[in-house]
Amino acid sequence: MHNLLIDAGVNLTSSQFDKDRTDILARAEAAGVDNMLLIGCCLQSSQESLSLAKKHGYVSTAGIHPHDAKDAPTDFVSQLRALAEHKKVVAIGECGLDFNRDFSPRDSQNAILEQHLLLAQQLDMPVYLHERDAFDSMRVQLEHTPVKGVLHCFTGTQDALEYYLDYGLMIGITGWLCDERRGEQLQKLLPLIPDDRLLLETDAPYLLPRSLKPKPKSRRNEPAFLQEVAKVAAELRSQTIEHISEITRNNFNRLFLSDMGE
Ligand SMILES: [Zn+2]
Repeated sequence: MHNLLIDAGVNLTSSQFDKDRTDILARAEAAGVDNMLLIGCCLQSSQESLSLAKKHGYVSTAGIHPHDAKDAPTDFVSQLRALAEHKKVVAIGECGLDFNRDFSPRDSQNAILEQHLLLAQQLDMPVYLHERDAFDSMRVQLEHTPVKGVLHCFTGTQDALEYYLDYGLMIGITGWLCDERRGEQLQKLLPLIPDDRLLLETDAPYLLPRSLKPKPKSRRNEPAFLQEVAKVAAELRSQTIEHISEITRNNFNRLFLSDMGE
């Protein structure tokens, strides 16, 4: 019997799941993953994530990923606001800054993020934040517009981690943790995250945990593999998986579901 886990970040609308989305969800359930936050990363995927959340009993986000900032329509804030009226939409995002890949110009990433933070603040909703190699600019934005939320797929430095914790954010940990090369720094920092701030997420179909055995031929990640992230996190924190299961569930419910009477 698996410990129940909540996947705090799944890109279920990805075309990589088009052929077998129902199977993926059945495998997640069989693996004990009993709730998911379905990530919207543009207006269309935010709408589709909401539809999937309604259909399958999960929750979703509404936002525009920094990669897509340059394509945001001028009325995107009112479109996000309309999506956020639905009960199943529990966070604004995925939004943020990615100066690692720079798929959108940095000034456009900053302008779009600011609008997301303001909207979240107005609606008193949490944000689902993405930050890669952009800590200094993210800090300026967060100080300008105080919000609550999660820094998803944290991969930064100890200084950045301490800042985000002081600020009050939860920290989302992915299968990056299971990467013996890229994940080394994160493995050292993981025990510094207090119990009441930890969330686990797959970021599927991305970031297949490299420690997973056997590895699926497709190299595609899926929510069922969150158990591997939990196992590695438990070892590194010297905690039981039962404990990881309990604290991450409490954190998820407190941050995202407090308005739903959970
Ligand atoms: Zn992201």
